Amino acid sequence: DAADLIARRDATFAEVQEHYYDAPPQIERGWREHLVDTSGRVYLDMVNNVTPLGHGHLGVADAVARQLRRLNTNSRFNYGSVVEFSERLAELLPDPLDTVFLVNSGSEAVDLALRVALAATGRRDVVSVAEAYHGWTIGSDAVSTSIADNPSALESRPDWVHVVDAPNAFRGRHRGADAARYAPEAAHRIHELAAAGSPPAAFIAETFFGNAGGIPLPAGYLAEVYAAVRETGGLAIADEVQAGYGRLGEWFWGFEQQGVVPDIVAVAKAMGNGYPLGAVITTREIAARFRTQGYFFSSTGGSPASSIAGLAVLDAYRDQGVQRHAAAVGAYLKSRLHELAARHALIGAVHGLGLYLGVEFVRDRDTLEPATDETRAICDRLLELGVIMQPTGDHQNVLKTKPPLVIERDSADFFVAMLDRVLTEGW
Ligand code: PMP
Repeated sequence: DAADLIARRDATFAEVQEHYYDAPPQIERGWREHLVDTSGRVYLDMVNNVTPLGHGHLGVADAVARQLRRLNTNSRFNYGSVVEFSERLAELLPDPLDTVFLVNSGSEAVDLALRVALAATGRRDVVSVAEAYHGWTIGSDAVSTSIADNPSALESRPDWVHVVDAPNAFRGRHRGADAARYAPEAAHRIHELAAAGSPPAAFIAETFFGNAGGIPLPAGYLAEVYAAVRETGGLAIADEVQAGYGRLGEWFWGFEQQGVVPDIVAVAKAMGNGYPLGAVITTREIAARFRTQGYFFSSTGGSPASSIAGLAVLDAYRDQGVQRHAAAVGAYLKSRLHELAARHALIGAVHGLGLYLGVEFVRDRDTLEPATDETRAICDRLLELGVIMQPTGDHQNVLKTKPPLVIERDSADFFVAMLDRVLTEGW
């Protein structure tokens, strides 16, 4: 049963690989925003941003299965799908971002983005933002600063990583501030590094504060920091692993919401609807500078099967109107969550854009004391009621609300009803 399975998992997995729950259901299939366990019980998946088109998407599944039967090989061969997919991806990006590298995951994409920036500039320092998660490889882990994911994150940084404050206007030092307060601080840090003889190769940030709790960056933030890093000869890297591909509703890329164009974009997750696929997109000129110093080849990045998955996902976005749907349901869900906030004092804020929302629980709306234990207990109770949900943020007090983008309004209503019930009845 499910308990046996988790015991076997714990016995063979390294301890660090935690499950979402202490006693998780054993899931075996899914469709759209729903998951089904081995006893036939259905759950609403409110946390899955790997499958924007939902579970069991036939278009993607059939395309990949057909491709696997015909041909799958490493990406050095000459076949159509990888070229077609790279062209379609490049078309989605503004000029001059037209040059594509294909990989398998977000960590790989961020790592490669860093390598490209280091090689292209001939520098070694990187500026990253606090409360961020960028991946598990040596490079992407080095720029990951979230103490929720790694409690010693800030002390164990390699010396080439420089961390600037999170532009979180909801809590912390910058509470209530706008970009006018903290963008100059990050810019100042960049100029300071340059003056000290170690100008950064890059500034890396998510284009929306995903792992900090679904908090949008303040208007003008990236524009000002990107300008500073470029003035000192460095590059702007946008981590779009979570924010990209229509997650924010109105904007296909998170950087569009900030009105900027990065020099290097890292993307993954949604691209293959769960089939491993990631990418780095940059300019021809930056990629050429990488060529002089760097080596890159990925056996399965952009394989025939993953390229076909990438194409099938883009077809589905177009044919099903996924992004428009996500914007509409996201706005609806946010307004319903605001109604809940008016009735439940535990909800300190409803953050977010599109279908990346963060319901932040606080013990006191003035002190903003994080309701961390309560958040965990609420997630456990929601599971009993058929909703899969997880805490996020450095205080683990935010409901990471990021369901498949195809989620129906009825499901959004069900989630709000169950959350209302837990907050009313207790947990
Ligand atoms: N960047 C961001 C912003 C992420 O959220 C994640 C994954 N949560 C990653 C990078 C790493 O992606 P992956 O897990 O596919 O390696």
